[in-house]
Amino acid sequence: MAAVLLLMNTYPLLVSEDLVFRTKAASLQNSVSVMVYSLSGLDQLDEENVAQAMAALEETGLSRILVTDSAGKVLYDTRETNDAVGEYSFYTEIVQALLGVDTSSSSYRDGAFRSRAASPVLYQNQIIGAVYAYEYDTEQAALLEGLQSNLLRLSAGIAVATLCISGLLSLALTRKIARLLTAIRKVREGAYSHRAEVRGRDEIAQLAQEFNSLTDRLQTTENARRRFVSDASHELKTPLAAIRLLTDSILQTENIDPVTAREFVSDIGAEAERLSRITEDLLRLTRLDSGVMETPTVVDVLPVMEQVLRMMGLVAQEKGTELTYRAEGTCTVLASRDEIHQVIYNLTDNAVKYAPPGSTVQLSLSRQGEQVVLTVEDNGPGIPAEDLPRIFERFYRVDKARSRAAGGTGLGLAIVSDTVAKRGGTVEAANRPGGGAVFTVRWPWQGGGAA
Ligand code: ADP
Repeated sequence: MAAVLLLMNTYPLLVSEDLVFRTKAASLQNSVSVMVYSLSGLDQLDEENVAQAMAALEETGLSRILVTDSAGKVLYDTRETNDAVGEYSFYTEIVQALLGVDTSSSSYRDGAFRSRAASPVLYQNQIIGAVYAYEYDTEQAALLEGLQSNLLRLSAGIAVATLCISGLLSLALTRKIARLLTAIRKVREGAYSHRAEVRGRDEIAQLAQEFNSLTDRLQTTENARRRFVSDASHELKTPLAAIRLLTDSILQTENIDPVTAREFVSDIGAEAERLSRITEDLLRLTRLDSGVMETPTVVDVLPVMEQVLRMMGLVAQEKGTELTYRAEGTCTVLASRDEIHQVIYNLTDNAVKYAPPGSTVQLSLSRQGEQVVLTVEDNGPGIPAEDLPRIFERFYRVDKARSRAAGGTGLGLAIVSDTVAKRGGTVEAANRPGGGAVFTVRWPWQGGGAA
């Protein structure tokens, strides 16, 4: 802005000054030419004939006119007081004119334009004298000065307005940034519930909104982390407390009979097994969280499903549960065999675990468009509607006692959901209209033949 104002204050003035100089020089030269013309008939110049010729001319309005002979002696001078007639004049312009050159110059000083012009007077190609004219003009100078002061006033106005506006804008901006900065510091110090308050719709406000939604996510993650740590320690504490209790009983009971001791030790073994199941599941989840994944290959899901069913067959048979499956289409997905095995195993294990003896568990596998869909259905108790949205959470169990009794860790479905999500798939739970639960897994279908 300063550069623009500087330019605005100099350029127009320089241009108009130059324009005035040119017009003045040209018009003065013109006037001098007229005077030279009126003297041109004379063979030599003297005070008398010059005065006569000049008197015949119209009023020029010039400040001073000098006519000299060829030696530079002044023959005619319009200056009323103290004229220079009879003296020798050595003005540069006159000297130049006597050398045969037309000269003119203009300058601006102390609020006035001063212009000078001189030309030689010739008779038969001989220089017999010179005419010199001088103009002192304050009128146009005043106009120019007026323009200059107007421009200055305008520039000052613009400068003040610019300063005020940019001051106000930067004040508003820094205030918003300061508020955002305070919010960032507070959240950094752990106040995850703090939110940045910035009104408006500009970039800073958008930044604040982004920051707030980031903080929302941070808070959710932080809450989930805390809950997970407390749940995990609780889950680990329970079997450990049981082990301590059992060992204390053995140690404190004198002459304990071998049958009871054996029972206690086998309980200790069961609790230790439970601990190892929980830690195994926790490790599996930690691996999933860390994002380190096996390199995927194209896996045919059907053989993996058949393997799981063979594994589960004995347990199901013992419970009197019937395990059936049907499959259609080439169901190949991009994942690892272990992952697919884990997902099908956890879902089938749950179905067998929670369905009462004598029920049926049915698995189905099919390709639907660009998806491979696996469903695991049972005709057990199903899942209460209010628990459905939460059963994929870590350690969430509808019936804690039942899950524990069945050897559950509360992590099975969380592992399923994370594993499937890692490969771009989804899993959902619902209740069958006729009773029982149905779990549906969808993986993106991957052609190209299984490895
Ligand atoms: P758990 O180790 O307790 O089985 P999961 O994460 O596998 O943990 O399952 C979470 C909860 O979801 C279970 O505790 C159970 O209450 C419920 N659930 C899972 N599968 C079924 C099912 N097929 N029928 C009824 N309830 C189920």
